[in-house]
Amino acid sequence: MISQARNVIDFLTKQGVEYADIRIHELDEAEHISTMKGDVEKYELISQQGYGIRVLVNGAWGFASSEVMTAQAMEQAGKQAIEKAQAASQFIQQKIELSDKPCVNSHYRSPCEIDPFSVSSQTKLKRLLQLDSQLGDEKFDYWGVSASFYKRHIIYVDSEGSEIRRELIELDAKLYAYATDIDGQQQKRTFVMPQYADGTTGWENLLNDAQIDHTQRLRSELLSLLDAPRCQVETCDVILLPEMMALQTHETIGHALELDRILGYELSYAGGSHVDLDDFGQLQFGSHKLTARADGTVPNSPGSIGFDDDGVPARNVTLIEKGLLKDAITSRQMIMEANAKAGRAIFSASGATSRAQSYSNLPIERMNNINIDAGQDGDLEAIIAATKNGILLETPCSWSIGSNRENFHFATEIAWKIKDGKIAHVVRNATYRGDSLTFWHSLDQVGDESTWQLQPVFMCGKGQPNQIMRLGHGIPVCRFKNVQVGE
Ligand SMILES: [Zn+2]
Repeated sequence: MISQARNVIDFLTKQGVEYADIRIHELDEAEHISTMKGDVEKYELISQQGYGIRVLVNGAWGFASSEVMTAQAMEQAGKQAIEKAQAASQFIQQKIELSDKPCVNSHYRSPCEIDPFSVSSQTKLKRLLQLDSQLGDEKFDYWGVSASFYKRHIIYVDSEGSEIRRELIELDAKLYAYATDIDGQQQKRTFVMPQYADGTTGWENLLNDAQIDHTQRLRSELLSLLDAPRCQVETCDVILLPEMMALQTHETIGHALELDRILGYELSYAGGSHVDLDDFGQLQFGSHKLTARADGTVPNSPGSIGFDDDGVPARNVTLIEKGLLKDAITSRQMIMEANAKAGRAIFSASGATSRAQSYSNLPIERMNNINIDAGQDGDLEAIIAATKNGILLETPCSWSIGSNRENFHFATEIAWKIKDGKIAHVVRNATYRGDSLTFWHSLDQVGDESTWQLQPVFMCGKGQPNQIMRLGHGIPVCRFKNVQVGE
Protein backbone atom coordinates (compact mmCIF):
# COMPACT_ATOMS: atom_id res chain seq x y z
CA MET A 1 0.00 0.00 0.00
CA ILE A 2 2.97 2.34 0.62
CA SER A 3 4.06 1.98 -3.03
CA GLN A 4 0.50 2.67 -4.19
CA ALA A 5 0.48 5.81 -2.03
CA ARG A 6 3.87 6.89 -3.39
CA ASN A 7 2.60 6.39 -6.97
CA VAL A 8 -0.36 8.72 -6.32
CA ILE A 9 1.92 11.39 -4.85
CA ASP A 10 4.30 11.08 -7.85
CA PHE A 11 1.30 11.43 -10.19
CA LEU A 12 0.14 14.60 -8.38
CA THR A 13 3.63 16.08 -8.41
CA LYS A 14 3.76 15.59 -12.20
CA GLN A 15 0.49 17.53 -12.41
CA GLY A 16 2.39 20.52 -10.98
CA VAL A 17 1.01 20.70 -7.41
CA GLU A 18 3.11 22.65 -4.90
CA TYR A 19 2.57 20.01 -2.24
CA ALA A 20 0.58 16.78 -1.82
CA ASP A 21 -0.04 14.19 0.88
CA ILE A 22 -2.18 11.09 1.25
CA ARG A 23 -3.42 9.41 4.43
CA ILE A 24 -4.59 5.87 3.85
CA HIS A 25 -6.56 4.34 6.70
CA GLU A 26 -6.01 0.68 5.83
CA LEU A 27 -8.34 -0.43 8.61
CA ASP A 28 -10.10 1.55 11.36
CA GLU A 29 -11.81 -0.64 13.97
CA ALA A 30 -13.99 0.49 16.89
CA GLU A 31 -15.81 -1.72 19.39
CA HIS A 32 -18.25 -0.23 21.93
CA ILE A 33 -19.65 -2.29 24.82
CA SER A 34 -21.76 -0.97 27.67
CA THR A 35 -23.69 -2.48 30.55
CA MET A 36 -26.55 -1.16 32.67
CA LYS A 37 -27.71 -2.71 35.97
CA GLY A 38 -26.20 -6.10 35.20
CA ASP A 39 -27.36 -6.36 31.58
CA VAL A 40 -25.83 -5.56 28.21
CA GLU A 41 -26.99 -2.10 27.19
CA LYS A 42 -25.18 -1.73 23.85
CA TYR A 43 -22.80 -3.59 21.61
CA GLU A 44 -21.36 -2.09 18.44
CA LEU A 45 -18.51 -3.16 16.17
CA ILE A 46 -17.49 -0.81 13.36
CA SER A 47 -14.77 -1.16 10.75
CA GLN A 48 -13.99 1.09 7.80
CA GLN A 49 -11.23 1.99 5.40
CA GLY A 50 -10.53 4.89 3.07
CA TYR A 51 -8.09 7.67 2.26
CA GLY A 52 -7.84 11.43 2.03
CA ILE A 53 -5.67 13.35 -0.45
CA ARG A 54 -4.62 16.95 0.15
CA VAL A 55 -2.91 19.18 -2.43
CA LEU A 56 -1.68 22.77 -2.54
CA VAL A 57 -2.24 24.53 -5.89
CA ASN A 58 -1.67 28.28 -6.37
CA GLY A 59 -1.46 28.60 -2.57
CA ALA A 60 -4.87 27.00 -1.87
CA TRP A 61 -5.83 23.64 -0.35
CA GLY A 62 -7.86 21.06 -2.23
CA PHE A 63 -9.01 17.86 -0.54
CA ALA A 64 -10.80 14.71 -1.67
CA SER A 65 -11.47 11.37 0.02
CA SER A 66 -12.80 7.98 -1.03
CA GLU A 67 -13.36 4.43 0.20
CA VAL A 68 -12.48 2.84 -3.15
CA MET A 69 -8.94 1.55 -2.62
CA THR A 70 -7.82 0.95 -6.24
CA ALA A 71 -4.95 2.84 -7.88
CA GLN A 72 -7.33 4.26 -10.48
CA ALA A 73 -9.74 5.60 -7.83
CA MET A 74 -6.86 7.18 -5.92
CA GLU A 75 -5.68 8.99 -9.04
CA GLN A 76 -9.25 10.16 -9.65
CA ALA A 77 -9.51 11.49 -6.08
CA GLY A 78 -6.19 13.27 -6.61
CA LYS A 79 -7.57 14.99 -9.72
CA GLN A 80 -10.66 16.06 -7.75
CA ALA A 81 -8.43 17.55 -5.04
CA ILE A 82 -6.55 19.55 -7.70
CA GLU A 83 -9.79 20.87 -9.21
CA LYS A 84 -11.01 21.97 -5.79
CA ALA A 85 -7.70 23.70 -5.03
CA GLN A 86 -7.82 25.51 -8.38
CA ALA A 87 -11.35 26.71 -7.61
CA ALA A 88 -10.42 27.75 -4.06
CA SER A 89 -7.37 29.66 -5.26
CA GLN A 90 -9.68 32.18 -6.99
CA PHE A 91 -10.97 33.31 -3.58
CA ILE A 92 -8.04 33.20 -1.13
CA GLN A 93 -6.72 36.41 0.40
CA GLN A 94 -3.33 34.98 1.23
CA LYS A 95 -1.36 32.06 -0.21
CA ILE A 96 -0.88 29.12 2.13
CA GLU A 97 2.72 28.30 3.02
CA LEU A 98 4.02 25.39 5.07
CA SER A 99 6.90 25.62 7.55
CA ASP A 100 9.93 23.36 7.20
CA LYS A 101 9.83 19.89 8.71
CA PRO A 102 12.14 16.89 8.79
CA CYS A 103 11.67 14.28 6.06
CA VAL A 104 10.98 10.99 7.88
CA ASN A 105 10.66 7.35 6.94
CA SER A 106 9.37 5.80 10.12
CA HIS A 107 6.65 3.95 12.00
CA TYR A 108 4.85 4.23 15.35
CA ARG A 109 2.79 1.74 17.36
CA SER A 110 0.87 2.62 20.51
CA PRO A 111 2.41 0.68 23.41
CA CYS A 112 0.10 -2.24 24.10
CA GLU A 113 0.47 -5.62 25.88
CA ILE A 114 -2.84 -7.25 24.91
CA ASP A 115 -4.43 -6.04 21.69
CA PRO A 116 -8.10 -5.43 22.64
CA PHE A 117 -9.16 -6.85 19.27
CA SER A 118 -7.47 -10.16 20.09
CA VAL A 119 -9.84 -10.61 23.08
CA SER A 120 -13.31 -12.01 22.40
CA SER A 121 -16.30 -9.75 22.96
CA GLN A 122 -17.68 -12.39 25.40
CA THR A 123 -14.54 -12.14 27.55
CA LYS A 124 -14.72 -8.37 27.51
CA LEU A 125 -18.40 -8.37 28.43
CA LYS A 126 -17.82 -10.80 31.30
CA ARG A 127 -15.26 -8.45 32.84
CA LEU A 128 -17.48 -5.37 32.38
CA LEU A 129 -20.41 -7.19 34.02
CA GLN A 130 -18.14 -8.12 36.93
CA LEU A 131 -17.29 -4.44 37.44
CA ASP A 132 -20.99 -3.53 36.99
CA SER A 133 -21.97 -5.95 39.78
CA GLN A 134 -19.57 -4.22 42.20
CA LEU A 135 -20.91 -0.75 41.40
CA GLY A 136 -24.66 -1.15 41.97
CA ASP A 137 -26.74 -0.36 45.05
CA GLU A 138 -30.48 -0.58 45.79
CA LYS A 139 -30.50 3.19 46.45
CA PHE A 140 -29.25 3.94 42.92
CA ASP A 141 -31.50 4.66 39.92
CA TYR A 142 -29.07 3.12 37.45
CA TRP A 143 -25.40 2.37 36.95
CA GLY A 144 -23.11 0.69 34.47
CA VAL A 145 -19.77 0.34 32.76
CA SER A 146 -18.86 1.34 29.22
CA ALA A 147 -15.75 0.56 27.21
CA SER A 148 -14.69 1.62 23.74
CA PHE A 149 -11.71 0.09 21.97
CA TYR A 150 -10.09 1.70 18.93
CA LYS A 151 -7.44 0.44 16.52
CA ARG A 152 -6.29 2.24 13.37
CA HIS A 153 -3.68 1.39 10.73
CA ILE A 154 -2.65 4.58 8.91
CA ILE A 155 -0.16 5.12 6.10
CA TYR A 156 1.06 8.66 5.38
CA VAL A 157 3.10 9.67 2.31
CA ASP A 158 3.86 13.21 1.10
CA SER A 159 5.58 15.02 -1.77
CA GLU A 160 8.49 16.04 0.50
CA GLY A 161 9.62 12.42 0.79
CA SER A 162 8.12 11.35 4.13
CA GLU A 163 6.63 7.87 4.56
CA ILE A 164 5.06 6.95 7.91
CA ARG A 165 3.14 3.90 9.14
CA ARG A 166 1.14 4.05 12.35
CA GLU A 167 -0.81 1.50 14.37
CA LEU A 168 -2.81 3.38 17.00
CA ILE A 169 -4.63 1.57 19.82
CA GLU A 170 -6.82 3.40 22.32
CA LEU A 171 -8.98 2.40 25.26
CA ASP A 172 -11.83 4.49 26.72
CA ALA A 173 -13.51 2.87 29.73
CA LYS A 174 -15.88 4.52 32.21
CA LEU A 175 -17.91 3.73 35.32
CA TYR A 176 -21.14 5.60 36.04
CA ALA A 177 -23.87 5.59 38.71
CA TYR A 178 -26.94 7.84 39.20
CA ALA A 179 -29.20 8.29 42.22
CA THR A 180 -31.84 10.70 43.58
CA ASP A 181 -30.90 12.77 46.64
CA ILE A 182 -33.05 13.79 49.62
CA ASP A 183 -34.29 16.86 47.72
CA GLY A 184 -35.36 14.83 44.67
CA GLN A 185 -32.41 16.03 42.59
CA GLN A 186 -30.30 13.69 40.52
CA GLN A 187 -26.75 13.08 41.70
CA LYS A 188 -24.11 11.12 39.82
CA ARG A 189 -20.60 9.80 40.02
CA THR A 190 -18.68 8.95 36.88
CA PHE A 191 -15.09 7.89 36.47
CA VAL A 192 -12.72 7.40 33.54
CA MET A 193 -10.92 4.17 34.36
CA PRO A 194 -7.16 4.79 34.46
CA GLN A 195 -4.61 2.81 32.48
CA TYR A 196 -2.43 1.00 34.99
CA ALA A 197 0.01 -1.12 33.08
CA ASP A 198 3.42 0.32 32.46
CA GLY A 199 2.82 2.76 29.64
CA THR A 200 0.42 0.64 27.59
CA THR A 201 -3.04 1.17 26.18
CA GLY A 202 -4.25 -2.43 25.86
CA TRP A 203 -6.89 -4.71 27.36
CA GLU A 204 -4.53 -5.49 30.28
CA ASN A 205 -5.60 -2.23 31.93
CA LEU A 206 -9.14 -3.42 32.53
CA LEU A 207 -7.88 -6.61 34.22
CA ASN A 208 -6.12 -4.64 36.95
CA ASP A 209 -7.59 -5.28 40.43
CA ALA A 210 -7.49 -1.55 41.15
CA GLN A 211 -10.48 -1.11 38.82
CA ILE A 212 -12.57 -3.06 41.36
CA ASP A 213 -11.40 -0.62 44.07
CA HIS A 214 -12.65 2.25 41.91
CA THR A 215 -16.15 0.72 41.67
CA GLN A 216 -16.26 0.50 45.50
CA ARG A 217 -15.04 4.07 45.92
CA LEU A 218 -17.52 5.46 43.39
CA ARG A 219 -20.40 3.57 45.01
CA SER A 220 -19.60 4.90 48.49
CA GLU A 221 -19.06 8.45 47.19
CA LEU A 222 -22.48 8.50 45.51
CA LEU A 223 -24.15 7.16 48.67
CA SER A 224 -22.47 9.89 50.72
CA LEU A 225 -23.73 12.58 48.32
CA LEU A 226 -27.42 11.72 48.74
CA ASP A 227 -27.88 13.54 52.06
CA ALA A 228 -24.75 15.70 52.08
CA PRO A 229 -24.95 19.45 52.88
CA ARG A 230 -25.27 21.76 49.86
CA CYS A 231 -22.28 23.86 48.89
CA GLN A 232 -22.20 27.24 50.65
CA VAL A 233 -21.62 30.44 48.71
CA GLU A 234 -18.27 31.84 49.81
CA THR A 235 -14.81 32.85 48.68
CA CYS A 236 -12.22 30.30 49.75
CA ASP A 237 -9.27 28.22 48.53
CA VAL A 238 -10.09 25.47 46.04
CA ILE A 239 -8.09 22.30 45.46
CA LEU A 240 -8.73 20.68 42.09
CA LEU A 241 -8.33 16.89 41.86
CA PRO A 242 -7.18 15.36 38.52
CA GLU A 243 -10.48 15.25 36.62
CA MET A 244 -11.26 18.90 37.44
CA MET A 245 -7.67 19.96 36.73
CA ALA A 246 -8.01 18.29 33.32
CA LEU A 247 -11.17 20.28 32.48
CA GLN A 248 -9.68 23.53 33.81
CA THR A 249 -6.53 23.02 31.74
CA HIS A 250 -8.46 21.91 28.66
CA GLU A 251 -10.86 24.85 28.57
CA THR A 252 -8.79 27.77 29.82
CA ILE A 253 -5.27 26.87 28.58
CA GLY A 254 -5.75 24.32 25.78
CA HIS A 255 -8.49 25.90 23.68
CA ALA A 256 -7.21 29.42 24.43
CA LEU A 257 -3.79 28.56 22.96
CA GLU A 258 -4.82 26.87 19.70
CA LEU A 259 -3.13 29.07 17.10
CA ASP A 260 -5.89 28.70 14.48
CA ARG A 261 -8.37 29.86 17.11
CA ILE A 262 -6.15 32.83 18.01
CA LEU A 263 -6.09 33.71 14.28
CA GLY A 264 -9.90 33.66 14.15
CA TYR A 265 -10.56 30.39 12.29
CA GLU A 266 -13.06 29.17 14.92
CA LEU A 267 -14.94 32.46 15.41
CA SER A 268 -18.09 31.36 13.61
CA TYR A 269 -18.35 28.14 15.61
CA ALA A 270 -16.46 27.62 18.88
CA GLY A 271 -15.24 31.19 19.46
CA GLY A 272 -11.93 33.03 19.67
CA SER A 273 -9.24 33.51 22.29
CA HIS A 274 -8.42 36.30 24.73
CA VAL A 275 -4.78 35.69 23.72
CA ASP A 276 -3.39 37.61 20.74
CA LEU A 277 -0.10 37.37 18.87
CA ASP A 278 1.49 40.25 20.81
CA ASP A 279 1.05 38.27 24.03
CA PHE A 280 3.68 35.64 23.20
CA GLY A 281 6.81 36.33 25.21
CA GLN A 282 5.00 39.15 27.06
CA LEU A 283 1.88 37.95 28.86
CA GLN A 284 2.14 36.64 32.41
CA PHE A 285 -0.57 33.99 31.98
CA GLY A 286 -0.45 32.71 35.57
CA SER A 287 1.61 32.56 38.73
CA HIS A 288 5.28 31.53 38.64
CA LYS A 289 4.15 28.02 39.73
CA LEU A 290 2.50 27.41 36.36
CA THR A 291 4.48 25.60 33.64
CA ALA A 292 2.33 24.10 30.87
CA ARG A 293 3.24 22.03 27.81
CA ALA A 294 1.81 20.65 24.61
CA ASP A 295 3.58 17.29 24.81
CA GLY A 296 2.87 14.68 22.14
CA THR A 297 5.56 12.38 23.52
CA VAL A 298 3.85 11.34 26.80
CA PRO A 299 3.45 7.54 26.79
CA ASN A 300 0.07 5.92 27.10
CA SER A 301 -2.24 8.72 25.99
CA PRO A 302 -4.73 9.10 23.14
CA GLY A 303 -2.92 12.41 22.50
CA SER A 304 0.33 10.58 21.68
CA ILE A 305 0.27 9.35 18.09
CA GLY A 306 3.94 9.45 17.06
CA PHE A 307 3.48 11.85 14.13
CA ASP A 308 0.77 14.35 13.35
CA ASP A 309 -1.23 14.34 10.10
CA ASP A 310 1.25 16.82 8.56
CA GLY A 311 3.88 14.09 9.06
CA VAL A 312 5.69 16.07 11.80
CA PRO A 313 7.28 13.96 14.60
CA ALA A 314 5.65 14.47 18.04
CA ARG A 315 7.27 17.18 20.17
CA ASN A 316 7.24 18.46 23.73
CA VAL A 317 6.58 22.21 23.46
CA THR A 318 6.65 24.55 26.49
CA LEU A 319 3.55 26.74 26.24
CA ILE A 320 3.85 28.60 29.54
CA GLU A 321 7.06 28.71 31.59
CA LYS A 322 6.84 29.90 35.20
CA GLY A 323 3.72 31.81 34.28
CA LEU A 324 5.08 33.47 31.10
CA LEU A 325 3.29 32.71 27.81
CA LYS A 326 5.86 31.36 25.32
CA ASP A 327 4.26 29.22 22.61
CA ALA A 328 0.98 27.94 21.19
CA ILE A 329 -0.60 24.74 19.87
CA THR A 330 0.68 24.93 16.31
CA SER A 331 0.81 23.37 12.85
CA ARG A 332 2.93 23.98 9.73
CA GLN A 333 0.39 26.26 8.06
CA MET A 334 -0.65 28.34 11.08
CA ILE A 335 2.84 29.29 12.26
CA MET A 336 3.64 30.72 8.80
CA GLU A 337 0.38 32.64 8.78
CA ALA A 338 0.85 33.93 12.34
CA ASN A 339 4.46 35.01 11.73
CA ALA A 340 3.42 36.82 8.52
CA LYS A 341 0.55 38.57 10.32
CA ALA A 342 2.77 39.61 13.24
CA GLY A 343 5.62 40.70 10.95
CA ARG A 344 8.12 38.75 13.06
CA ALA A 345 9.07 35.11 13.70
CA ILE A 346 7.11 34.34 16.88
CA PHE A 347 6.92 30.61 16.15
CA SER A 348 9.92 28.64 14.89
CA ALA A 349 8.56 25.14 14.13
CA SER A 350 5.29 23.23 14.05
CA GLY A 351 4.30 21.68 17.38
CA ALA A 352 3.03 18.59 15.50
CA THR A 353 -0.62 19.07 16.48
CA SER A 354 -2.33 18.88 13.09
CA ARG A 355 -4.82 16.01 13.26
CA ALA A 356 -7.91 14.75 11.43
CA GLN A 357 -10.71 12.70 12.99
CA SER A 358 -10.81 10.36 10.02
CA TYR A 359 -9.50 9.88 6.48
CA SER A 360 -12.41 11.97 5.20
CA ASN A 361 -11.53 15.09 7.26
CA LEU A 362 -8.92 17.78 6.69
CA PRO A 363 -6.39 17.99 9.56
CA ILE A 364 -6.71 21.01 11.87
CA GLU A 365 -4.83 22.08 14.99
CA ARG A 366 -5.82 19.90 17.96
CA MET A 367 -4.57 19.54 21.52
CA ASN A 368 -2.24 16.57 21.92
CA ASN A 369 -1.45 16.34 25.66
CA ILE A 370 -1.78 19.72 27.34
CA ASN A 371 0.08 19.12 30.58
CA ILE A 372 1.13 20.98 33.70
CA ASP A 373 4.44 20.20 35.39
CA ALA A 374 4.34 18.70 38.87
CA GLY A 375 5.44 21.07 41.63
CA GLN A 376 7.14 20.94 45.00
CA ASP A 377 4.28 21.52 47.40
CA GLY A 378 4.00 17.91 48.54
CA ASP A 379 1.31 15.28 48.13
CA LEU A 380 -2.45 15.74 48.38
CA GLU A 381 -2.41 15.26 52.17
CA ALA A 382 0.19 18.02 52.53
CA ILE A 383 -1.86 20.44 50.41
CA ILE A 384 -5.02 19.69 52.42
CA ALA A 385 -3.10 20.07 55.67
CA ALA A 386 -1.88 23.51 54.52
CA THR A 387 -5.46 24.71 53.78
CA LYS A 388 -7.35 26.54 56.55
CA ASN A 389 -10.65 27.12 54.76
CA GLY A 390 -11.18 25.47 51.41
CA ILE A 391 -12.97 22.98 49.22
CA LEU A 392 -11.72 19.93 47.35
CA LEU A 393 -13.42 19.52 43.95
CA GLU A 394 -13.60 16.51 41.63
CA THR A 395 -15.19 15.45 38.30
CA PRO A 396 -16.91 17.89 35.91
CA CYS A 397 -20.71 17.85 36.08
CA SER A 398 -21.49 20.82 33.82
CA TRP A 399 -19.50 23.71 32.46
CA SER A 400 -19.95 27.03 30.77
CA ILE A 401 -17.10 29.00 29.31
CA GLY A 402 -16.66 32.41 27.67
CA SER A 403 -16.36 32.27 23.89
CA ASN A 404 -12.86 33.77 24.12
CA ARG A 405 -12.04 31.50 27.09
CA GLU A 406 -11.74 34.60 29.27
CA ASN A 407 -13.97 33.34 32.09
CA PHE A 408 -15.67 30.13 33.25
CA HIS A 409 -18.26 28.60 35.59
CA PHE A 410 -17.87 24.88 36.34
CA ALA A 411 -20.01 22.50 38.44
CA THR A 412 -18.56 19.35 39.98
CA GLU A 413 -20.05 15.96 40.78
CA ILE A 414 -18.58 15.86 44.29
CA ALA A 415 -16.70 18.10 46.71
CA TRP A 416 -15.32 17.94 50.24
CA LYS A 417 -15.20 20.89 52.66
CA ILE A 418 -11.80 21.49 54.24
CA LYS A 419 -11.54 23.14 57.67
CA ASP A 420 -8.27 23.77 59.51
CA GLY A 421 -6.24 21.38 57.38
CA LYS A 422 -8.69 18.47 57.52
CA ILE A 423 -11.51 17.12 55.36
CA ALA A 424 -14.72 17.97 57.24
CA HIS A 425 -17.50 16.43 55.09
CA VAL A 426 -18.84 15.73 51.59
CA VAL A 427 -20.56 18.64 49.80
CA ARG A 428 -23.36 18.48 47.20
CA ASN A 429 -23.89 20.71 44.12
CA ALA A 430 -20.55 22.51 44.28
CA THR A 431 -19.61 25.04 41.62
CA TYR A 432 -16.80 27.55 41.19
CA ARG A 433 -16.18 30.42 38.82
CA GLY A 434 -13.47 32.83 37.78
CA ASP A 435 -11.70 34.89 35.16
CA SER A 436 -9.14 32.68 33.43
CA LEU A 437 -6.02 34.81 33.93
CA THR A 438 -6.94 35.87 37.49
CA PHE A 439 -7.57 32.22 38.31
CA TRP A 440 -4.21 30.98 37.01
CA HIS A 441 -2.50 33.86 38.86
CA SER A 442 -4.11 32.58 42.07
CA LEU A 443 -2.36 29.19 41.68
CA ASP A 444 -0.30 28.94 44.87
CA GLN A 445 0.25 25.21 45.50
CA VAL A 446 1.24 22.60 42.92
CA GLY A 447 1.32 18.95 43.98
CA ASP A 448 4.42 16.78 43.59
CA GLU A 449 4.90 13.82 41.21
CA SER A 450 2.72 11.59 43.42
CA THR A 451 -0.30 13.74 42.46
CA TRP A 452 0.50 13.91 38.70
CA GLN A 453 -1.85 11.83 36.56
CA LEU A 454 -2.65 11.49 32.90
CA GLN A 455 -6.34 12.11 32.29
CA PRO A 456 -7.58 11.05 28.87
CA VAL A 457 -10.27 13.13 27.11
CA PHE A 458 -12.33 11.35 24.48
CA MET A 459 -14.80 13.97 23.27
CA CYS A 460 -13.16 17.25 22.24
CA GLY A 461 -15.15 18.86 19.43
CA LYS A 462 -13.78 21.45 17.00
CA GLY A 463 -14.00 22.54 13.38
CA GLN A 464 -16.64 22.81 10.69
CA PRO A 465 -17.65 20.14 9.84
CA ASN A 466 -17.18 19.11 13.45
CA GLN A 467 -14.40 16.68 14.27
CA ILE A 468 -14.21 14.76 17.57
CA MET A 469 -10.71 14.19 18.89
CA ARG A 470 -9.18 12.09 21.67
CA LEU A 471 -6.33 13.57 23.72
CA GLY A 472 -4.85 13.78 27.22
CA HIS A 473 -3.94 16.06 30.11
CA GLY A 474 -1.10 15.18 32.47
CA ILE A 475 -1.74 17.28 35.55
CA PRO A 476 -0.88 17.50 39.26
CA VAL A 477 -3.33 18.40 42.04
CA CYS A 478 -3.34 22.22 42.39
CA ARG A 479 -4.62 24.78 44.89
CA PHE A 480 -5.98 28.21 43.95
CA LYS A 481 -6.46 31.07 46.45
CA ASN A 482 -9.63 33.09 47.04
CA VAL A 483 -11.99 31.55 44.47
CA GLN A 484 -15.73 32.14 44.40
CA VAL A 485 -17.62 28.88 45.09
CA GLY A 486 -21.30 28.17 45.53
CA GLU A 487 -24.32 26.46 44.02
ZN1 LIG B 1 -12.23 20.61 23.74
